[in-house]
Amino acid sequence: MISQDSNKKKTVAVIGSGMAGLVSVYLIQQDRKKRYEVEMFETQNQLSLDSASHTVTSDEDPSSSYRIDVPMRAFDDGFHLNLKRMYDHLGVQYTSPKFVYPLSTVSTTDNSRKSPPHFIHSSSNHQVPPIKPERCGYGQWILRTLYLAVCYFWFTACCFLIEPIPATIDRDDESFQVYLDRIALPKYFIGNYLLPLMSAVTTCSHDELLGFPAIDAIDYARRTYRQPHYTVVGGVQNVQAKIACAPSVRLGATVTKVEHIGSRLRVTWIDSRSTETCSKEFDHVVMAVTPNVVGAIYEPLRTTLSSIPVISGESVVHYDRSTLPDCGRSIRKFSRDVRFSPDQPQLLYICSNSSATEAIHEHPGSVLVTSFPIAPIDPAKVIHRARLARVLRTPKSRRVVNRIFSGDFEQTQQEDKTWRNGTGNVWLAGAWCWDGMVLLEGCIVSAMRVAAGLDVEVPWQ
Ligand SMILES: Cc1cc2nc3c(=O)[nH]c(=O)nc-3n(C[C@H](O)[C@H](O)[C@H](O)COP(=O)(O)OP(=O)(O)OC[C@H]3O[C@@H](n4cnc5c(N)ncnc54)[C@H](O)[C@@H]3O)c2cc1C
Repeated sequence: MISQDSNKKKTVAVIGSGMAGLVSVYLIQQDRKKRYEVEMFETQNQLSLDSASHTVTSDEDPSSSYRIDVPMRAFDDGFHLNLKRMYDHLGVQYTSPKFVYPLSTVSTTDNSRKSPPHFIHSSSNHQVPPIKPERCGYGQWILRTLYLAVCYFWFTACCFLIEPIPATIDRDDESFQVYLDRIALPKYFIGNYLLPLMSAVTTCSHDELLGFPAIDAIDYARRTYRQPHYTVVGGVQNVQAKIACAPSVRLGATVTKVEHIGSRLRVTWIDSRSTETCSKEFDHVVMAVTPNVVGAIYEPLRTTLSSIPVISGESVVHYDRSTLPDCGRSIRKFSRDVRFSPDQPQLLYICSNSSATEAIHEHPGSVLVTSFPIAPIDPAKVIHRARLARVLRTPKSRRVVNRIFSGDFEQTQQEDKTWRNGTGNVWLAGAWCWDGMVLLEGCIVSAMRVAAGLDVEVPWQ
């Protein structure tokens, strides 16, 4: 006979409503046996996946508007396998814009001065030969293109043929810096082409990127080699509308503590409207927040997660065209087209100094979005700003993450005392909760892991 207790639904608190939190809730709600009752907590006053995005309305036709995803939520076939499967399952529409990347240099003495582009790269090399920068002579352009082709070929061949040195018990993973030295890639190519292009994806300083485990960068380069990029038609608001299905959502609820009370978990939060401190007990807690937040609210992981670096930066939506490098006529065609159709090649200006890179994405209507700006932007021309957190990878943080998410915690716990995902019914989800670059794919993989831990089937698997 089934007791009344076993019929009672288990309660689950999901903290954070970014992609990882929303997908975790969506999956738990798919449980065929309807065993779970989910409650979501979000510190902001709206769901967070789409909260930093911005809508621009055309001056000529106020009924026509365009949604700009902030941050950019691009994905591709080779890397974002589960994200794409989920989008297909949900019927989310996406498009495959081509990107054109003018690469230019920001002056070290005056941040507002940018050189005209020294190279114009195209995503998946869809422009062959590459577009000639206006101020570059034909001879110089041919020599530069040949030099880059050789370096690019060498780097790509190494990615597929030379494995990064893995960690052992007493040695960390090889860093990206050490790998690049080992394959003898020219410093000029690294500083002027490779790091600017890659750090536009990782939005961190060049030094931070060089400190990543080499396997992350190499795996990313392999998986995205010659793969098309995609963006969601109408922006991630359309994804959020399809997956936001928590029956109970507490907005403006900042969780301050998660603690074990016997076999249950107590979640304590501050309600931003009433400023009251409230608490409630649950059977499971999913923390879909960055590792610094996990450390702040959940004592057992405080020390372990302090070794995972988290930085924050800004994405700025604006009209300040003086921040663009002078490209002359070389890319005007794309610039003009991009104003009228989002399906045309899109311009993503990559502007670097010796230590960092800013990416300026030109959207229809001449709206610019600068991620992690280096050059000053005229405040009078700013229409929206968003502060964004970015979790970084290091050989040490990779070791920590892999240990937390490795294997079956019940089996492994007997030999070692490391906290493992699922210990005491506490689960972690987020872009950082997997072994790879901290991008949307990590959100989906970790949410699927939560579902597996709760014995819920993943519909797109
Ligand atoms: C500039 C930039 C560009 C990017 N571009 C891409 C891209 O093109 N493609 C790609 O795949 N990835 C991209 N990424 C990465 C990707 O967007 C993020 O890694 C991903 O969105 C993180 O999602 P998440 O659910 O793990 O965490 P988050 O989105 O950080 O969600 C965590 C949520 O928890 C909430 N929260 C925090 N503390 C508390 C608390 N105490 N109580 C309650 N709620 C709390 C926060 O408000 C937040 O909403 C980009 C990132 C940046 C910064």
